[in-house]
Amino acid sequence: MKNLSILQDEVKSCTKCTLHSTRTNTVFSRGNPNASLCFVGEAPGEDEDKQGFPFVGRSGKLLDETLVSLGLDIEKDIYVCNIIKCRPPGNRRPSEEEINFCIDYLEEQLKLVNPKVIVALGSTAVNGLINTTYGITKIHGQFFKRRQTVVMPAYHPSYVLRNGSKGPIYEDFKKDLESAINKTKE
Ligand code: URA
Repeated sequence: MKNLSILQDEVKSCTKCTLHSTRTNTVFSRGNPNASLCFVGEAPGEDEDKQGFPFVGRSGKLLDETLVSLGLDIEKDIYVCNIIKCRPPGNRRPSEEEINFCIDYLEEQLKLVNPKVIVALGSTAVNGLINTTYGITKIHGQFFKRRQTVVMPAYHPSYVLRNGSKGPIYEDFKKDLESAINKTKE
């Protein structure tokens, strides 16, 4: 069976969509592949493209700090990846075509990591992982069954930052992450 490092090498040499021609690095994952809690974001931004790891910019800092405040060790307790593995120029949203080319990598990745709980950060991640017509404001914090695991939609940390990192959106975000952590312990 394929392992994560073979899959990561495949992603590194991927040329299925045009994003390969503008990327600096592919962005596969960070954290612990044996963690029971996985975060899936939208796509790499500028910092991620430069460094080759997901959520290493301002959004990632907010995510990590929130998780640490909830008692997690971010090296050990979480696994982080994105719906697509290359940065869309100018940080635009990935197109449907780009997502379709890339989504099989995520499917294989999630199968190999096999987390108990997946937190989908933002609407692109939610739409990539579950079938719903509801917006994130309505369904954040709820659990949706998906194959062997459950998915919980949560606000994207960049949306939280835009709304002030101490306000009600932040409180919802933190509460949702806390219930995702609790769910891994059930
Ligand atoms: N935003 C995302 O959705 N993913 C990242 O890796 C960074 C920012």
